[in-house]
Amino acid sequence: MGAHATVLHGGQWRKTRRLNILYSLLKRSEPVKAKRQRVNLKAVKKRFPDCAAHLDLFESIQDTVYSVKFRPPPRLGREEVQDALGSGRTVLDTCVDKLDTEAFGRALGKLFKHLADRNAREFSRASRTAVPEGLMADYLHAREKRLERHASQQGLSAASLVSCCQQAARPQLAALRDANGEADLSVWHQGHCPFCGALPAMAQVDAQGSRHLFCPNCLAQYRFARHHCPGCGHAGLNVLTMEAWPGLLLESCQACGTYLKTWSAGAGDPPCPFPHLDILTRGVDEAAEPQELKRLSLSVMGV
Ligand SMILES: [Zn+2]
Ligand SMILES: [Zn+2]
Repeated sequence: MGAHATVLHGGQWRKTRRLNILYSLLKRSEPVKAKRQRVNLKAVKKRFPDCAAHLDLFESIQDTVYSVKFRPPPRLGREEVQDALGSGRTVLDTCVDKLDTEAFGRALGKLFKHLADRNAREFSRASRTAVPEGLMADYLHAREKRLERHASQQGLSAASLVSCCQQAARPQLAALRDANGEADLSVWHQGHCPFCGALPAMAQVDAQGSRHLFCPNCLAQYRFARHHCPGCGHAGLNVLTMEAWPGLLLESCQACGTYLKTWSAGAGDPPCPFPHLDILTRGVDEAAEPQELKRLSLSVMGV
């Protein structure tokens, strides 16, 4: 497989302590079953002051979007789920038009107001403009041209609109994942999320050498081949280790130029504290930039 390792210096991250501080601060629960992972924000911010503002923003966004009630997403029959997964279709593919688009619109409208109130000027027009009809479907079907049009009507960049859609859709996508969480994922061999189709934001390799991927949208965890790129399927990854984050690897693909932050857990180590670790290791993403590597997917923050 020819992976080679290099030490990548993570700048500001040299100051930070080992990840076990973080573990002690996160009130952990299994990502696939959890409705929403809670965090002792005050304590984490104190220990990771460099990321305090981002964590604070992330948690406030979650508070906003999770405060909107929605019609529960469909719970599919076991057979229907297995048929879909077995033929390479995601759970969302089978019911993409059955989600609560009105609730999505309310969550998005609330999020625009929240961001405008937090002084993000970019969102002032969007916070006063009605959320366009059909936006949820356009987002879920990744109709780029239409998203660009919606964004310009709202005075936003397409990237900002997509980030906000990602946040506003998360409660429903996570609920869809929960409702169908008993699916047998062993039939799924693709790099993207079996529930919602997003490419992973992070990975974890456990003590047995199995690799698990984490979805930035519905926060699902699923298994994938150890040495293949989840983006393009290329076999053989380059591995960089982080001086400031022992245990964190930056695995990159030569074929498509993307990387994935990977938590390598030893025996007895707790599992990767996703999604918060994605935000706390922003410095690693910054260190990857000069190496001309790009993230495989959006982060949980949508950037
Ligand atoms: Zn997902
Ligand atoms: Zn690749």
